[in-house]
Amino acid sequence: METTLKELLKIAEAKNIAFASFNAPNYESALAVVEAAEELQVPFILSHGPGHDKYTDITRVMDIYKSLTKHVKVPFCFHLDHTSDLDYIEKALKLGFTSVMYDGSHESYEENVKNTIKVVEMAKQYGASVEAELGTIASSSYGNSETLLVSSSEYTDSNQAKDFVERTGIDMLAIAIGTVHGVYTTKPILDLNRIKLIREVVDVPLVLHGGSGIENEDIQIAIDNGIRKINYYTYMTLAGGEAVQRFVNNHEKIFFHDISLIAIEGMKQDALRTMKMFTKRDI
Ligand SMILES: [Zn+2]
Repeated sequence: METTLKELLKIAEAKNIAFASFNAPNYESALAVVEAAEELQVPFILSHGPGHDKYTDITRVMDIYKSLTKHVKVPFCFHLDHTSDLDYIEKALKLGFTSVMYDGSHESYEENVKNTIKVVEMAKQYGASVEAELGTIASSSYGNSETLLVSSSEYTDSNQAKDFVERTGIDMLAIAIGTVHGVYTTKPILDLNRIKLIREVVDVPLVLHGGSGIENEDIQIAIDNGIRKINYYTYMTLAGGEAVQRFVNNHEKIFFHDISLIAIEGMKQDALRTMKMFTKRDI
C-alpha cells in the first residue's frame, strides 16, 4: 500500500521504531528490499538519489519501483534522496515520488531556509512530504584510506534545528551527529545524546543518514532517542557484491542470470537483518 513518508513515520513514532530508507539503484536491489519487507511484513522506503542516475536513471528506476510494488500490502513510499537541484526535485514529484529531500546543508543557513521553503511549497502541490538537512554529514568513498570526518562543531545545533523546522514547515529533519555516508574506515563515535536534545525542541521525525555499518547497540539508542528513518545502502550493496564474489571464485563458467540471483539473495539477507534491527526484532 503506497503512502507518504509522513504517514509511514507516524507508525514508527507510535511504535518507537525506525524504518530503513534503502537506496535501490537497480532492479536487483529494489527486489531484495521488497522481498525482505514482505517476508517480515515491515513498512519500507525505496530511495533514489541523483548520484545513482548512472546506474539507472530516475525515470526507469521509478518504473522498476512501481512494477515491483504493485501488489505489495505493507505500507511503503518512494523517496528522493539528497539533492539541491530544484528542477530535479520537480521531475521526481512528477514521476510519483511521494517524498523528497532537499539538501541545502552546504549552503548558508539563510539560503538553506529560503530554498527549503520553496521545496515545501512545491511538494505541497503534489501532496508529498519533505526532508531537509542541517549540519554536515561526512562522506567516505571505498578505497580511500581516509574518511572525511567532520568536527562536532558542524553537527546539528538544537536551537538552530528548532528555528529551521518552524520557519520551513518541513516534515522530517536529517541531522548530523557523526555518521558518515559510505564505508566506515574507523569505528564511528556518535553524539547520540544530541538526538535527544534536538527531539525535545522539534516536533518532526528525525532522520539518520549513513546508517550502514553502525553497531546495533548504537542504532537502538538512536531510535530510543528519536530517530525514525535511517538511510541505508552501502553495506547492503557490499553484501550483494560479496555473495557474487564467492560464487565467481568457486565456478569456472559464469552465467549472468546466476549472478543476478545471487546478488538479490545476498542483498535480501542484509535487508532482512537491517529491518529486524531497526524495528527491534531479534537478529
Ligand atoms: Zn544521506
